[in-house]
Order: sequence, then C-alpha cells, then structure tokens
Amino acid sequence: MAIYVCEVCGMSLGTMTCGTCEEQLVHDSITTEEGEVVHVAKCPEGHGMIKSPMCCGQDMTRKD
Ligand SMILES: [Zn+2]
Ligand SMILES: [Zn+2]
Repeated sequence: MAIYVCEVCGMSLGTMTCGTCEEQLVHDSITTEEGEVVHVAKCPEGHGMIKSPMCCGQDMTRKD
C-alpha cells in the first residue's frame, strides 16, 4: 500500500482514495505552464487529481 511520508518530521499519511469510485489514487506528475513539475495524486478512472500532500513546507514522499 502506498503512503506519503514527510522526511522532515516523519508524519505519514495513509493511501488516499477517489471519493467517486473509491479507487486508490495513483501518483503522477504534471508540468505547469511555467515549466515547474508538480507531483499529483490522481484517480485511475479519470475522476480528477489533487496536488500531492505537503508537510513542513515540502512535498511528502511517496512510499510503497
Ligand atoms: Zn512534516
Ligand atoms: Zn475515481
């Protein structure tokens, strides 16, 4: 099971699921118009995406 972990304070976050189909969100990254790579978690069924969780001012790291 994939979880997100903060490498600064050690806080972990359990797997997030889509509110529509309840599938586990999959990790992906997108590139913004400014050329910045943003990590996101998205529904494998295409119901949408959210930005990866942040803690202590940085993206939390995905762990399997
Ligand atoms: Zn933290
Ligand atoms: Zn979904």
